[in-house]
Amino acid sequence: VFDFKIILGKNGVPVAENFRLEQSTIADTIQVGQVRVRTLYLSVDPYMRCRMNEDTGSDYLLPWQLSEVADGGGIGVVEESKHDNLAKGDFVTSFNWPWQTVAILDGSFLQKLVPQLVNGRLSYFLGAAGITGLTALLGIREKGHVAVGANQTMVVSGAAGACGSLAGQIGRLEGCSRVVGIAGTDEKCSILVQEMGFDAAINYKKGNVAEQLCELCPGGVDVYFDNVGGDISDTVISQMNQNSHIILCGQISQYNKDVPYPPPLPPDIEKIQKERNITRERFLVLNYMDKQEASVLQLCQWIQEGKLKVRETVVEGLANIGAAFQSMMNGGNIGKQIVSVSK
Ligand code: NAP
Repeated sequence: VFDFKIILGKNGVPVAENFRLEQSTIADTIQVGQVRVRTLYLSVDPYMRCRMNEDTGSDYLLPWQLSEVADGGGIGVVEESKHDNLAKGDFVTSFNWPWQTVAILDGSFLQKLVPQLVNGRLSYFLGAAGITGLTALLGIREKGHVAVGANQTMVVSGAAGACGSLAGQIGRLEGCSRVVGIAGTDEKCSILVQEMGFDAAINYKKGNVAEQLCELCPGGVDVYFDNVGGDISDTVISQMNQNSHIILCGQISQYNKDVPYPPPLPPDIEKIQKERNITRERFLVLNYMDKQEASVLQLCQWIQEGKLKVRETVVEGLANIGAAFQSMMNGGNIGKQIVSVSK
């Protein structure tokens, strides 16, 4: 078995050397209630940056321990089962899948997957039909106040990433009349417009974001799906309308800094937020798991109908998971960053 261990946790930019690949052995036999699984796909996500700190800054996230096997969202196939509800060949998932090629897991912590729901694209259960899709859909439904016929303009930051690319499309499906994305490369911007149905996209690394936003959102911004925080969000908030809404999904531009979550807005931006009565409530998808089943079915239906376009960036091999995480944090991904561990 190959497993992946965290060897360094500290503030700053994560590097591939924070991770170490080791070979080890697992038990020959499994106990009643357990299954032996072969890992197929692992997810790397921005929140993992917080798990690299001794203090994650979140009450719901435990820090990864130095020299222990890392874990996160994963999918695998059951190779041997001593659990009543799971059989050899079943596809299963967990939020706490160990970064190992093969693992022995407690079957009661695993959810069974139905590959037909995603046209056999199992990795979608880590993205568009998993937590990422749920975050986009429930963020919009719980905090976006989007209504059909209300002629709303939505802006999405981190728009070409896993969550952002879905959020823009779902904003449109839920009723927004105009959707504008903000992303880090020209290629990402052109995919957003040509493939994902965004009306326009701004490369925040080029030109003046405020000017472009003003031109592209002539009626102001009604809904802001915020994945990044920092300067980009300050610029968007400055152009938001009276009684508009921020979906406070994430603040990735701040994750390598030692600041509380959510980071407070600068005083001048906070003044705008208060004066214009802009809502900015913290959103955490895990608080809405009672809506998981129905929402996943909705996402799968949209995927099957071709209404939700899905992009993935896939890296092969467990040995490359540290590099995949680092790349995603630096914008190397389009859509969901996936690590394919075995076929
Ligand atoms: P992702 O967007 O697929 O990947 C991260 C992206 O962030 C990169 O591709 C990069 O794209 C962008 N980025 C990195 N540093 C940046 C910076 N300094 N300024 C602007 N953009 C930057 O990741 P994801 O999994 O979909 O997560 C997106 C956000 O959602 C994160 O903030 C995450 O924490 C949050 N999230 C929240 C919940 C919740 O329950 N609230 C659940 C899941 C995820 P560019 O090339 O465009 O820079």
